[in-house]
Amino acid sequence: MVFRLSLLFLGVFSSCLSTSPTTPPAVLSASSQQPNHAAYATKNVVLVVIDGVRYSDSWGDSSLANIPRMARELAPKGVFHPQFYNKGVTKTNPGHVALTTGHHQRIQNNGGELPELPSVFHYYRQHTGAPATKAWVITSKDKLEILARTNSTDSAAQFAPATSSGKNGLGTGYRPDTTTIRIAKQVFSQHKPQLVLINLREPDSEAHEGNWDGYIKAIQQSDRLVADLWKWLQKQPGYKNTTTLLVTNDHGRHTGERFEDHGDNCEGCRHISLLVMGPDVKAGTVASKPRSQVDVAATMADLLGVPLPKRDGEPMRELFKTTPVNAD
Ligand SMILES: [Zn+2]
Ligand SMILES: [Zn+2]
Repeated sequence: MVFRLSLLFLGVFSSCLSTSPTTPPAVLSASSQQPNHAAYATKNVVLVVIDGVRYSDSWGDSSLANIPRMARELAPKGVFHPQFYNKGVTKTNPGHVALTTGHHQRIQNNGGELPELPSVFHYYRQHTGAPATKAWVITSKDKLEILARTNSTDSAAQFAPATSSGKNGLGTGYRPDTTTIRIAKQVFSQHKPQLVLINLREPDSEAHEGNWDGYIKAIQQSDRLVADLWKWLQKQPGYKNTTTLLVTNDHGRHTGERFEDHGDNCEGCRHISLLVMGPDVKAGTVASKPRSQVDVAATMADLLGVPLPKRDGEPMRELFKTTPVNAD
């Protein structure tokens, strides 16, 4: 919005200086060249990805026993989506790359390959001129540091976000989720970022160990960490009532008894969840149009008024009460 207002102002200013009476009105040409600008109240977007939680162990369990705080404290003020899916490769790096680029890529899962397209983080920085400290990728898994990078030769590629991944960056190992949340709070306080991704990895790690109780406890811990983070953000100047939070997963896990692993096309691996909080959501509603991960990048860009080139997804405007200006 600041960017747009300044453009309009420049337009008015230059039209005043114009010596040619035939020059078209600069204000109109400036505004008509802008992408769709939503009248969203959102100024900040935070995406939390809880790694490897199966729908049937979270929102799909009618007792909601493993996600009591998101279900009872958050959902009544947000939009919950019961038909949200991973429609690409059901592994960590491919799932996260679909969320951040809006594009399905069969990217390696070990951090050894970069996204082939820039992410919403890159386009946000390119479009707004914001420094790297205004966009952050904060992940418990070190291999997700690749989300901040790309192989693309697009001009947006040089606008990488800041990162804090794993113990000390790519190749240094995983860290606890409580550490990741503590670092995220420090980043919010110190840098006041507008666009943040947080990855919590413990449900996936516990499940791979074959530890059912550990997996369930890790889901419950993620529930507490997310609810506490939302409460905390609502007390921070610059975030209260201006922040949209999206909570989702990179993938689920195999259906039935095979909870240890994931990675194929089964319903358990594909069916994940989406909860959206914030000033623009249709509060207390349940979404009905089936959606998938690639729609998240488009939605984050739409909320921030940032253009994202045509991708596999589209903005989930049906989740918001706000009608964007110039909506097509
Ligand atoms: Zn996994
Ligand atoms: Zn599966």
